[in-house]
Amino acid sequence: MANMQQNKTPMKEQLPNIRNTNWDEVACGYTAEEAMHEASRCLGCKNPACVKGCPVSVKIPEFLSEVAKGNFENAYRIIRSTNALPAISGRVCPQESQCEGKCVRGIKGEPVAIGRLERFCADYMMQKQQKASEPAQNGEGKIKVAVVGSGPAGLSCAGDLVTRGYHVTVFEALHKAGGVLVYGIPEFRLPKTIVENEIRTLEAMGVEIMTDMVIGRVLSVDELFDMGYEAVFIGSGAGLPRFMGIEGENANGVYSANEFLTRINLMKAYREEYVTPIRKGRSVAVVGGGNVAMDAARSAKRLGAEHVYVIYRRGEAEMPARREEIHHAKEEGIEFLFLTNPTKIGVDEKGNAESIRCVKMSLGEPDASGRRSPVAVEGSDFDLAIDTVIIAVGTAPNPLIRMTTPGLETDRRGCFVTSDGNTTTREGVFAGGDAVTGAATVILAMGAGRDAAKKIDEFIKSK
Ligand code: FAD
Ligand code: SF4
Repeated sequence: MANMQQNKTPMKEQLPNIRNTNWDEVACGYTAEEAMHEASRCLGCKNPACVKGCPVSVKIPEFLSEVAKGNFENAYRIIRSTNALPAISGRVCPQESQCEGKCVRGIKGEPVAIGRLERFCADYMMQKQQKASEPAQNGEGKIKVAVVGSGPAGLSCAGDLVTRGYHVTVFEALHKAGGVLVYGIPEFRLPKTIVENEIRTLEAMGVEIMTDMVIGRVLSVDELFDMGYEAVFIGSGAGLPRFMGIEGENANGVYSANEFLTRINLMKAYREEYVTPIRKGRSVAVVGGGNVAMDAARSAKRLGAEHVYVIYRRGEAEMPARREEIHHAKEEGIEFLFLTNPTKIGVDEKGNAESIRCVKMSLGEPDASGRRSPVAVEGSDFDLAIDTVIIAVGTAPNPLIRMTTPGLETDRRGCFVTSDGNTTTREGVFAGGDAVTGAATVILAMGAGRDAAKKIDEFIKSK
């Protein structure tokens, strides 16, 4: 008999006025008792809607049933059979629009806290310091596949290929593996030890990772084939920042969110013992309304800013960021200026940003994306005094690999053209994640990596 408690079992969090001064994880996770109690809310539906909402089809009722019985290792193995990075997806997936958004318990009350329980199982196993069940499988004599990029797409493709018996090498441009998980998403949302642990698990399974390898510079895709790789998967993401093209955007103190977050997360600019420079602004404007904007704003606050404004041209309901991130940002003292658009950055005589001019917006007719387009309200301009501006209005794929790989086509947004989501215009080259879709989500990238692994396997077997 399921536990009919209407709401999710609450999860402990650091208090807002304490956490906005430190970088520790905001959400503390469930205890074993809380996890069992929450999992027992699952009705074990015969035709589970939650699974349909999960891009990697985690067997949700099966794993929840094991958690409810206290069989956490079994639960972990069930999750791990379709999800290569559960500690990560449990923390950063937009569950409200995926599995939990479809859970029938959400009709009268709150859905089962599937994400929190996924996280619990992964953390439980990490504490037990157990490796994934699969033994190391890379080795001599196996067919070689190259994976470019070590974000969620590349890692999950690599994990699946190793399980299928291939020798997999991941080539990563940066000095650390993990993609956005290490350089973009901040420590207080996704501790880096969690990402490192997931990567160690993949390495223990046999995935070989080579860092500081910019494909297109150090080696080309053609050279990878010459080295004996039978197929190449490209999961190079969408890390090229977009700007607004307004006056003053080149001033000192104006960052792309990617640069700002990379300095903080990957280069540890917030820690005294690191020499990485970063501007610790007192009054910071963050432009944008997605997860990236929330992360930049909350990071600026933790660096000591008195005022952090999020400037977004649509309303709160239209914000693409996860609801939980918006809620946490508000609690931490971030000030939101909705229906507001920057038109100019004011610059002082030394070239530093000193103000941002904005115009108020109203929502007009829906645009191609179905969202109502913002229209400037005449005469509503105002200036806001700031010393730092962080632009988080989107990113695009870097063109380097396309430019150095004959036969590999991209569309007008710079995303790889594929016939089925993964198969590119160049034989033997597959792609997935943000490099194909444009900036999206961790779980979609993981799903694309898994799909690509299947297609690579079929391609190699058909040769
Ligand atoms: P990436 O994670 O971008 O990884 C690509 C990797 O390829 C990088 O490591 C890059 O260095 C490497 N690379 C690029 N070019 C080359 C080359 N030429 N040679 C070798 N390596 C190369 N999604 C969510 O679901 N939830 C969230 O809460 C969330 N928050 C986010 C916060 C921020 C700040 C950002 C930036 C994104 C966020 N996202 C979130 C989006 C999510 O992180 C991405 O959709 C996801 O990481 C895409 O995965 P990927 O593997 O395609 O690419
Ligand atoms: Fe359990 Fe909700 Fe999935 Fe039904 S839809 S199986 S109640 S998690």
